[in-house]
Amino acid sequence: MEPPHHALLRGLRRTGPHRRDGGRAHRARHDALLRGPLTEAHRYFLGIDEDGVSYFALQKDSLPGRIDQSARPAGLREAGLLLSARDVGLMVHAVGLENWQRTHRFCSRCGERTVIAAAGHIRRCPACGAEHYPRTDPAVIMAVTDEDDRILLGRQVHWPEGRFSTLAGFVEPGESIEQSVRREVHEEVGITIGQVEYVASQPWPFPSSLMLGFMARATSTEIEVDGDEIHEARWFSRDELRAAFESGEVLPPYGISIAARLIELWYGKPLPTRSVA
Ligand SMILES: [Zn+2]
Repeated sequence: MEPPHHALLRGLRRTGPHRRDGGRAHRARHDALLRGPLTEAHRYFLGIDEDGVSYFALQKDSLPGRIDQSARPAGLREAGLLLSARDVGLMVHAVGLENWQRTHRFCSRCGERTVIAAAGHIRRCPACGAEHYPRTDPAVIMAVTDEDDRILLGRQVHWPEGRFSTLAGFVEPGESIEQSVRREVHEEVGITIGQVEYVASQPWPFPSSLMLGFMARATSTEIEVDGDEIHEARWFSRDELRAAFESGEVLPPYGISIAARLIELWYGKPLPTRSVA
């Protein structure tokens, strides 16, 4: 289930600008925000742009009667296609903070209820003094290709028929990200991986991942899906993938996902879409 991003999307508000004194008042305000009164339970500071405008995420519940009635909820996957790169960044930041806040209300050291601090960037334990910071869980996502330059795409067990994408998984304790790529691919589809090349990363707050994207070269081709996470996996040549997209047999990945970028990198140009409605 997706977290309630819409609460934050609708709450994104800007304040300022107030850079009239070379930024001194602005910096003082910034510092005050980061020290943050403990009552800042519904407002998270996200940053300041080059014009001195401060950005906050507000929880919907803190805005009774102040939400435009024409507003409607939208998830990050939908909103990501509509917003500018900067606003997507703000929203991902806000959603990531909110996901962390909602699941870290108690101290993991002593069990006491924690309080919010530093404008939403720390939760502090009044009993033992521990400070807890937002966490990010590294995950790997990889476009696996074979000697014939085909790509391997898989369908997770809970995905609809036809939804194929790159394989992905979480980095485990004590593991390098390259080891993680090789282990995940082998566990999920039984393919062995040789060369692993880092491409790019993407924050993915579902609920708190940082997706590290790779191109990975397979040294075997025989697929054996685990049936646990991956239900089905197939090799595609470029022609086969194009035909599968166009016929609707395979649904393209979400437009904002790094999976789409990795597949496109292999494909060599923008991915084709279905040719019939
Ligand atoms: Zn504690």
